Amino acid sequence: MSLHADNIIETKGALILGAGAAGLFTALKLSPYPALVLADTHPGISGSSARAQGGIAASVGEGDSWQAHAADTVAAGAGLCDPAIAALVAREASARIEDLVRFGAPFDRRKDGSLAVNREAAHSAPRIVHVSGDSAGAAVMRALTDSALATPSITLLEGFHAIELAVEDGRVAGLFARYGAGEFARLVLFRAQEVILATGGLGALYTVTTNPVETRGEGLGMAARAGAVIADPEFVQFHPTAIAIGVSPAPLATEALRGQGATLIDENGRRFMPAIHAAAELGPRDVVARAIHRQIAAGHKVFLDCRDAVGAKFAGAFPTVYAACREAGIDPATQPIPVAPAAHYHMGGIATDTLGRSSLEGLRAVGECAATGLHGANRLASNSLLEALVFGARLADDMRARGTLRASRGTLPTPERFRALPAPQVLRDAMSRLVGLERSAEGLNEALRIISQIERAGAHEPTLLNMTATAKLVAAGALARRESRGSHFRTDYPQTDPSGGRTFLTLAQAERMIAEPTTTTTTRSLA
Ligand SMILES: Cc1cc2nc3c(=O)[nH]c(=O)nc-3n(C[C@H](O)[C@H](O)[C@H](O)COP(=O)(O)OP(=O)(O)OC[C@H]3O[C@@H](n4cnc5c(N)ncnc54)[C@H](O)[C@@H]3O)c2cc1C
Repeated sequence: MSLHADNIIETKGALILGAGAAGLFTALKLSPYPALVLADTHPGISGSSARAQGGIAASVGEGDSWQAHAADTVAAGAGLCDPAIAALVAREASARIEDLVRFGAPFDRRKDGSLAVNREAAHSAPRIVHVSGDSAGAAVMRALTDSALATPSITLLEGFHAIELAVEDGRVAGLFARYGAGEFARLVLFRAQEVILATGGLGALYTVTTNPVETRGEGLGMAARAGAVIADPEFVQFHPTAIAIGVSPAPLATEALRGQGATLIDENGRRFMPAIHAAAELGPRDVVARAIHRQIAAGHKVFLDCRDAVGAKFAGAFPTVYAACREAGIDPATQPIPVAPAAHYHMGGIATDTLGRSSLEGLRAVGECAATGLHGANRLASNSLLEALVFGARLADDMRARGTLRASRGTLPTPERFRALPAPQVLRDAMSRLVGLERSAEGLNEALRIISQIERAGAHEPTLLNMTATAKLVAAGALARRESRGSHFRTDYPQTDPSGGRTFLTLAQAERMIAEPTTTTTTRSLA
């Protein structure tokens, strides 16, 4: 698609798209070198970052070690983590937490002043640094935003919705972004030596999600449309117990409630988990999510019953969940909470190396939109913010060391506030029904057909094409993976194939695979 910009801004240096934890932290680590951070929605509260609850994993507790953290990460990834990346991330975690403390993150502390750490599922030691129990994301984002606003080398621009990468002479040379609406809409070309995508995940391509509406996989789609290699797109993690009260994003009923003894019941008060897994409600996240999904698909309603396990202590012990329930008119101390699985986190993304470089010259990626090899087929809880910090710092060090950054030039327009619209419902329905917790060749082929129809109907609209490119890669990756592993479950291939490796796929390869279904699988083992 050839686009004509109304305005051209020369950003000689770091151009960061996305103002979540990944974008802002990278900009701060780049300082004193200039960074222009663009986002469609409001920095500090946009994206998934401000919604993170549990906290950030780092082996800062007594008796813990980065080796144990790396081993837990690899175990959670169901055979597809890159062990060298897991070791690198676990080793650098505590230094990144120190950075956050310097930027003002008010982590909870013990009486002796040391960082307080919580334990989460599948971690062999308490190692989650947190803020006021379940408010880590909001507090960290407040600190990062305040620091960024106080840093002269950082320019934060809200209200720009990026639609396409600019590619010149085979390298990424900037991006096109819209601002304004209707007849006042304008297109700006931000030219830059390197573009850093920090655009988050893709949960909002699904009907029920914990992610905000702006998290529609657009950065991944833009990179894929420019030819970048995408890794592991089929791995989408679903949270088993989002509160099903018809609001999007769906609030979470934290796993800690099941840890306290809350049970999953249907509309008749019948528990179904004991028949499915020895650990019942405390089984692995993907097992519990699939069991709930099957109940709902069979026409049941599912509830989290906290009445006996938590009861009157609810408001004090789980204030965030309590507030969400009360807003929906539910008293969780005396009433079961309606729940459903929700698209929560994308393990896949733009394939990057240890310095955040993608397969395209001039394009880097960081945070949830990148795939570094850390998560494999399933993310270990609280490793995602950490991944953003570790690779944001590495990428910034590399760019600063190469010293190629210069100040911005051009007159910046002042856009109006942007309101992200939900992805088309027909796309969200197809993703939820056919590319969700349970997949089959038949369903995935149907999904690909629906995605292509949506794409053809909206071929003039780059925002839609970014979403459909991402959706297509998730479905094509799932079709190519003829096995079940981690978050990916095929009803027609329920076993794990011991020879299964990671997926590396370009959009062109995915499209060839769809056109010629006999093309061999694109998964490959880690060397
Ligand atoms: C409810 C919830 C709880 C979680 N809890 C935890 C936790 O406890 N610990 C943990 O480690 N992880 C947690 N996660 C995951 C974690 O929050 C995310 O993986 C992480 O915040 C992603 O950060 P990011 O900066 O990559 O993306 P985001 O924070 O999602 O930011 C993306 C940015 O890109 C912008 N953007 C996107 N597309 C465009 C476009 N086309 N044009 C312009 N701007 C664009 C958005 O507006 C936003 O500013 C949780 C996630 C959710 C949803």
